[in-house]
Amino acid sequence: MKALVKREAKEGLWLEDVPQPEVGPNDVLIKVKRTAICGTDLHIYNWDKWAQKTIKTPMVIGHEFVGEIVSVGTNVVDFEAGQIVSGEGHVVCGHCRNCMAGRRHLCNDTSGIGVNRPGAFAEYVALPAANVWEHRPGIDLDVAALFDPFGNAVHTALQWPLLGEDVLITGAGPIGAMAAAVCRHAGARHIVITDLNEKRLALAAELGATRTVNVTQEKLEDVVAQLGMSEGFDVGLEMSGSPAAFNSMLDNMAHGGKISMLGIPGEDTAIDWNKVIFNMLTIKGIYGREMYETWYKMSVMVETGLDITPVITHRLHYTEFQQGFDAMKSGEAAKVILSWE
Ligand code: NAD
Ligand code: ZN
Repeated sequence: MKALVKREAKEGLWLEDVPQPEVGPNDVLIKVKRTAICGTDLHIYNWDKWAQKTIKTPMVIGHEFVGEIVSVGTNVVDFEAGQIVSGEGHVVCGHCRNCMAGRRHLCNDTSGIGVNRPGAFAEYVALPAANVWEHRPGIDLDVAALFDPFGNAVHTALQWPLLGEDVLITGAGPIGAMAAAVCRHAGARHIVITDLNEKRLALAAELGATRTVNVTQEKLEDVVAQLGMSEGFDVGLEMSGSPAAFNSMLDNMAHGGKISMLGIPGEDTAIDWNKVIFNMLTIKGIYGREMYETWYKMSVMVETGLDITPVITHRLHYTEFQQGFDAMKSGEAAKVILSWE
């Protein structure tokens, strides 16, 4: 089968013929229909420090996908050929304390699809049945291919009650923009989103942000005053990984404000802890998606009219992957869909 492989320990990806994955007794085999390119894939493409220490070459990469089940292992009774599914990209151990308690998103021994084990940028991918999510009938396949990053947005946003609340999102990348859509759907009042990139801010506005702030031109403090929010934001979603953005969030939270942090800051990020303590802020780190509550919420939000399609800026065939990665690299793309049909 064709697959996008990290063949060599240097920049790039290679479209190659590789053997079809083997299907263990607990696995399902999926014929991939659409995939989406994630920031993680770009790290692997670029062969940055993180990729060098994480990826063992050769590796079929990719974890954002939708496909159709073509066969199931002998132990699998919950799935059958023909179902339209995506995969939870974190394969959990199943027997640590958290897994045993049903808190699989907190497993301390996860393995990543397309990172630690063969991924979905391929004609076929094999996954444990426990990692498979069946989509509602009639779902748009491009939207279905985004359930992994959409899930990051949903998991981060739905940590706190949103109805009537004022929300600050720092970072209008694809995940920040989708989070704006989720906050709107969930009934937040002001949904203010910051970025340095006008194109990304415009996209976030299209998806549901009520006010965009280009931090190179405007001060968040001034926007808070303009909107008449005397006490600051009730909820903060950090989705940039930028220390400057996180610090400006801390400066503009209401007392008792709740922050969920998805963005991954550098090791030496410093904050003013007094703001956390004296303003009694709650800060919660967010990793991945909750299995499978986040997936349930995504399916139901899509069913009830949440539209994330504006986040898709490019639709290409897998043979045009280079164009897709170039668009991601230039910052011109939000989500790039590759078709494998
Ligand atoms: P992205 O890099 O496309 O988006 C980040 C955005 O932040 C960019 O548009 C950038 O211009 C903006 N930004 C940079 N500095 C800023 C500043 N000072 N103020 C405001 N905005 C600023 O990333 P993404 O794919 O949307 O993902 C968002 C973040 O979440 C990334 O940091 C990513 O690494 C992280 N992530 C974490 C998890 C997890 O499980 N914790 C999963 C996926 C992604
Ligand atoms: Zn576990």
